[in-house]
Amino acid sequence: MTAERLDGKKIAAEIREEIASKVASFTREGNGTPCLAAILVGEDPASQVYVRNKERACEKSGIIGRTFRLPDSTTQDELLTKIEELNQDQSVHGILVQLPLPKKGNDGKGFDERAVLDAVCPLKDVDAFSPVNVGLLMQGRHRFLPCTPHGIVQLLHRYHLATSGKHVVVIGRSDIVGKPMAMMLAQREGSCGADTANATVTLAHSRTTNLKEICRQADILIAAVGVPEMIRGEMIRPGAVVIDVGINRVGDRLVGDVHFDEASEVASAITPVPGGVGPLTIAMLLHNTLLAAELQNQANAS
Ligand code: NDP
Repeated sequence: MTAERLDGKKIAAEIREEIASKVASFTREGNGTPCLAAILVGEDPASQVYVRNKERACEKSGIIGRTFRLPDSTTQDELLTKIEELNQDQSVHGILVQLPLPKKGNDGKGFDERAVLDAVCPLKDVDAFSPVNVGLLMQGRHRFLPCTPHGIVQLLHRYHLATSGKHVVVIGRSDIVGKPMAMMLAQREGSCGADTANATVTLAHSRTTNLKEICRQADILIAAVGVPEMIRGEMIRPGAVVIDVGINRVGDRLVGDVHFDEASEVASAITPVPGGVGPLTIAMLLHNTLLAAELQNQANAS
């Protein structure tokens, strides 16, 4: 079997076009242009690239992308002050703090990442990290959805790959990818309807025993581990759909968490790395920024 390649780049481009057209109508109706503010602390080269990509993606969709670059020496208090300033700024609709934060601030102390993320106003929390937005997702009445798992739901939906009644195995339980992914697919109603929800979900992690056997039971296998090519062909049930979230640099190559060539021989469909899940993450960030602008508009009107 040679698996169908699920083209995340193409789907992301489709979503971005839809967003650009919605942004144009939103502003034509006399609303302020949606604006995403990214805070980048320090000089981490990968973070600089991510933030630049987000700025460019904003521009192409008609969203204002503003980046606030703070020096390595920034303290926790200074960062919290900046976040509060942006919380209060009515021209800013979405706020994201680029992770990871540097190890130490000016005062010799490390950042309390949880406190930093909690400081972002829940109505501007386009990464959906705030406990308020996580709680809403948990209760099945989501507002913002975390970008990477939401991108995966969009991809599955647009390829007509239903999850309802299917056994989905998610490997990795991070707050950013694995946990919300599991929660979203287990809901009765998903962001793309009931077909891309209602899964029976197994959430695996580093303490899972018999990982291979569990993976082989999956109709849909989602790998978000951060270990290059860990998922081998023998771990995949013939005909399964494989979603590879991993982005790992090995020498000068980018590889996923799945061994692409082996998996392609067994699976019915698979996302490549790069060009799979990655582009969808940014597309859903733009989606959340527009949503934030709409929500703040409604809140100001009432
Ligand atoms: P984390 O490091 O936060 O979490 C990794 C998870 O994998 C943990 O739950 C860990 O288990 C589990 N794990 C680690 N080793 C094993 C193992 N041998 N067997 C089973 N489970 C294991 O990673 P993230 O969720 O942030 O990211 C995962 C990958 O996805 C990375 O490659 C990252 O670069 C990529 N990524 C890609 C994005 C995109 O846009 N495409 C966005 C975000 C991330 P435990 O909890 O027990 O430690």
